Amino acid sequence: MTVVVVSTGGTIASTESEGGDAEPELTGDALVAAVPGLNSVADVRTHDFSNVPSPYFTVEQMHELAEVVRSYDEDDEVSGVVVTQGTDILEESAYFVDCCYGGDTPVVFTGAMRNPSLAGADGPANLLASVRAASDERFRETSQNTAVVFDDRLHAPADVTKMHSSNVDTFRSPEFGPLATIDEDRVVWRHHPAEPTPTFDVDPDRLTNDVVAAFATADMTDAVIRAAADSAAFCLAATGAGHVPPGIIPALESLRDGDVPIVATTRCPEGRLARETYGFRGSEATLRELGCYYSDQNLQKTRVRTIVAHAADAFDEAFERP
Ligand code: ASP
Repeated sequence: MTVVVVSTGGTIASTESEGGDAEPELTGDALVAAVPGLNSVADVRTHDFSNVPSPYFTVEQMHELAEVVRSYDEDDEVSGVVVTQGTDILEESAYFVDCCYGGDTPVVFTGAMRNPSLAGADGPANLLASVRAASDERFRETSQNTAVVFDDRLHAPADVTKMHSSNVDTFRSPEFGPLATIDEDRVVWRHHPAEPTPTFDVDPDRLTNDVVAAFATADMTDAVIRAAADSAAFCLAATGAGHVPPGIIPALESLRDGDVPIVATTRCPEGRLARETYGFRGSEATLRELGCYYSDQNLQKTRVRTIVAHAADAFDEAFERP
């Protein structure tokens, strides 16, 4: 049983150089060497993909990462892949891979909140739990091929989000909870997603980061919406069940008239957009009139799905349009 650890940087790989602040520097081999007992769980190979703080990660790199995962899926010796990454945008790259990768080999994303030089560094425990999860035979029997493992819990990328800026218990799936937990040497599965994320066939030449995303806020200006006039798409986290201040509606109408797809979600951490509860100007009735696509994801993952939908030319498959 061979698990490949693909290291990309982040806190888990960070050391304090010259007494200064921590920066990603450690290789995959160094990460693996720091985990007691790892070799009794699986044969571990490493792949140094990058060594960057996760906010440096680009859309192209997310796509490259999905290609790396796909190449290991075709390698019969590999039974699982673990990607180590900074936690800041981890949910976005895990969801990107979830949207683009249709293989059977389990892929687990993990990282750390405390770098290896700090008391209570969590990277080794997260890596151990991730390798355990990636090599768990029942993972292949689930409808889910990509997961985030953190603090001994396994989450679906579609559900998970970073909830806390510094606590080690930062990754949670607010409304639906984790799919499994890792107890000692066992992966205890509890839930399987009824509707796994579909796999989209991305054309690399259509990949772009030019998808603008914004939260609706009380009495906001429309500047950010107008700035998206030439963008590939615009993602909007509306207030509540899908509501916006009336002052931004003309700018949204301009996007619609300019054929810029608008993908709406709610800015609430739980719940989805309403379809026909309210009828005031700026309510979900207006979103419908604007031809908005509806997303069930938070804003950052809505943007990821929108980028994928654009690159796969598949908006109608990726989103409902009530
Ligand atoms: N604080 C971040 C981390 O958890 C930094 C990053 O995302 O690279 O790794």
